[in-house]
Amino acid sequence: MSTFAVRSPVSGDVLSEHPVHGPEEVRDTVVRGRGAAAVWAGLGWAGRRDRLLAWKRALARRMDELAALVARETGKPEHDARAEVLLALVHLDWAARHARRVLRMRQVSSGLLSVHQRALLGYRPLGVIGVIGPWNYPVYTPMGSIGYALAAGNAVVFKPSELTPGVGEFLASSFGEAVPDCADLLQCVTGPGSTGQALALSGVDKVAFTGSPGTARKVAAACAGTLTPLLAECGGKDAVIVGADADLDAVAEAVVWGAMSNAGQTCAGVERVYAVASVHEELCGRVVRAARALSPGTPDGEYGPMTLPGQLGVVERHMKEALAGGARAPLGGPESVRGPYVHPVVLVDVPEDSPAMTEETFGPVVAVNRVADLDEAVARANASAYGLGAAVFTGSRAAGLRVARRLDSGAVSVNSVLGFAGVPSLPFGGTGESGFGRIHGAEGLRAFAAARSVTVRRFAPAVDLTSFATPREKAAKAVELGRRLHARF
Ligand code: NAD
Repeated sequence: MSTFAVRSPVSGDVLSEHPVHGPEEVRDTVVRGRGAAAVWAGLGWAGRRDRLLAWKRALARRMDELAALVARETGKPEHDARAEVLLALVHLDWAARHARRVLRMRQVSSGLLSVHQRALLGYRPLGVIGVIGPWNYPVYTPMGSIGYALAAGNAVVFKPSELTPGVGEFLASSFGEAVPDCADLLQCVTGPGSTGQALALSGVDKVAFTGSPGTARKVAAACAGTLTPLLAECGGKDAVIVGADADLDAVAEAVVWGAMSNAGQTCAGVERVYAVASVHEELCGRVVRAARALSPGTPDGEYGPMTLPGQLGVVERHMKEALAGGARAPLGGPESVRGPYVHPVVLVDVPEDSPAMTEETFGPVVAVNRVADLDEAVARANASAYGLGAAVFTGSRAAGLRVARRLDSGAVSVNSVLGFAGVPSLPFGGTGESGFGRIHGAEGLRAFAAARSVTVRRFAPAVDLTSFATPREKAAKAVELGRRLHARF
């Protein structure tokens, strides 16, 4: 089997070698997963919950080891990697503890027409889920699918990003050690995009993909041939809306963290800010002051390098096109790109049709534009092809909530950024170029389950509409009665 090398984004040195799994190995893995899923099903809700919590405790105990591995492969500071692992633990805990409540069979109303039937709704696992992950949050992001899919009763075959295969292998092997009686329930296959494609074509029962919209299209095309369902978590171009009465220090602090943490390589990171004219200048000054205080570096910087070397060129192009179109850069500019790092950049008055406003920049760059009022801010925020996250800052929480209701994004934070990411009961996902489907929360569990509807006949109905023995006239009268009722109410 051929192998591929992982290089440090900081030094370029080879860190490790990993196998390139081809279609045959991927298919074998899926077959093993099916066997494990059958054992998993036999454990019942409590058995599965206890084992998932045992895995969670093992990951918590090994947080330092896992965070160090994340830091090595992505270049992000270890303190960031530890916070990422904690978020993943919070979600795994929630999924394990809530799966039974959300998915078990329960009675639902059967309605007047079917009053003689007892109606039951439950959810069954889909089987084997193929999870294809990105590199920017190599634990938190895929665990939003892995943890919820396992809790819903499925097996998982995980294809991590080719930049972070060690993290994927760690997750699978730690599961096997913590849950030895079901070790093949979570398996890892490694390799480039072709391994992901093999997984999409392998006959898994659903693919949960996280990555760029361009790759999502390729995965969707692969899934189309076998009608394999797909959940797609893609990029974002999140906007922050700032009202006239917002606490500008709090806004600047949140915007700079939302835009610059993880070197801006966050799907729901802050890339656009729309501030009403009366506070725009003042806010820009505070954002620049807060951003200027940051320096990237390894291991002690506030953030690390661009994990994907090719992204340096994208970030530089976005800045150059914005400046050529008339934007100003009160902090940094193209010269801030000093590979492998990008120093903080603040852009102002960026043309709305510039790539810095329309495409995912995925670097520590934030554009702060002026708007006349909150209506214009909402219109501009919604004018994006993406619809992942957003934030609103206003003096009054009620006013913030009113704006939140008008935003076309999957999640909104009022008076914070990314507030939703750490709330496991809240579903996460987007619309448009940001993808479709939801991870996290009850929706995130149901995403990996199929509804199973059951009726149990309780007694013979007065008029049985599902029998040829019912006289036609009697059936017609019953139908007419039903028609009249629906015509009136
Ligand atoms: P990417 O699209 O390049 O790769 C994602 C994964 O897809 C990798 O594992 C890759 O090997 C695999 N892949 C590539 N070609 C494939 C193919 N033809 N078939 C199947 N799989 C294939 O994305 P990336 O650079 O790893 O991640 C960054 C992107 O992910 C950004 O756009 C970011 O916004 C997005 N992201 C989204 C979320 C979210 O939850 N919405 C979270 C994190 C990252």
